[in-house]
Amino acid sequence: MAKIKGHISINIDNCKGCELCVAECPQQSLKMSENINTKGYHYAVLVEDNCTGCTNCALVCPEAIITVYRQGKKKKEQVAVIKNVTENITVNVG
Ligand code: SF4
Ligand code: SF4
Repeated sequence: MAKIKGHISINIDNCKGCELCVAECPQQSLKMSENINTKGYHYAVLVEDNCTGCTNCALVCPEAIITVYRQGKKKKEQVAVIKNVTENITVNVG
């Protein structure tokens, strides 16, 4: 089964540097930045490309500044319709 890919965005200027999201991420996708934001706090950043979109970070963030995006499996698309077949045929779908 294909793994669900997630992504998050953090409104870093409103981060208070509490590190709750870093502690709660099961993928260790988050770290605290060495830089500081406009309010003087180290802010959380997504550092790994392994986010599953589990939403843990967004749920624990006391500032509610994390938005989670999830990309599921691609929808199956119809590639061919075969009708009115009266004899044996071979169909190759590339
Ligand atoms: S959504 Fe889940 S996996 Fe992704 S950064 Fe947040 S806690 Fe980690
Ligand atoms: S939980 Fe929210 S406020 Fe705390 S470090 Fe993470 S993004 Fe910043």
